[in-house]
Amino acid sequence: MKIIAVGRNYIEHARELNNPVPSSPVIFMKPETALLKDNAPFYHPDFSNDIHYEAEIVIKICKEGRHISEKYAGTYFEEIGLGIDFTARDIQQRHKEKGLPWELAKSFDFSAPISRFLPKQDFDLNNLNFSLNLNAGQVQLGNTGNMIFTFEKLISFISQYISLKKGDLIYTGTPEGVGKISIGDRLTGYIENEKLLDFEIK
Ligand code: ZN
Repeated sequence: MKIIAVGRNYIEHARELNNPVPSSPVIFMKPETALLKDNAPFYHPDFSNDIHYEAEIVIKICKEGRHISEKYAGTYFEEIGLGIDFTARDIQQRHKEKGLPWELAKSFDFSAPISRFLPKQDFDLNNLNFSLNLNAGQVQLGNTGNMIFTFEKLISFISQYISLKKGDLIYTGTPEGVGKISIGDRLTGYIENEKLLDFEIK
């Protein structure tokens, strides 16, 4: 399986990092070794002093496809989950300044915590609230109605370039409020009122 992630899919998040609002999706990938499942703790690596959480709705691809039209894209996923796109912001900033790829900032081991998955029909996908708490305080509150590119648009766009296979995950971008984690922190994440993520930074 592979993990495809979308950068800058919420306008207010693009603005908070002083990035332009994109006219087509910004895509990057994480390897399977980035997954962190079952609310296992995240061990803070020593190569970064500025790892940020980015809470994102994740869709799980349920069948193989390429060159998928937007009209049928909705049939390519049946389940959604909540994920974190951990980002070594200091490394990313250095690489951006040099015009280099983001890989080391985005694709390191366990940089993609993922929750269990829920059936999509239980939710209004165009008006889906999700949130992240850092310790006792809420730090991110997103609504999929604010996505620049919808789930269907993302599936269609990505599949023009990269075949999608059953089990692939798409991390669909983070809303504003990203910030740094420290050892001893606890992250809890929700889709609507359902707690899906709850793990510690060690
Ligand atoms: Zn992200």
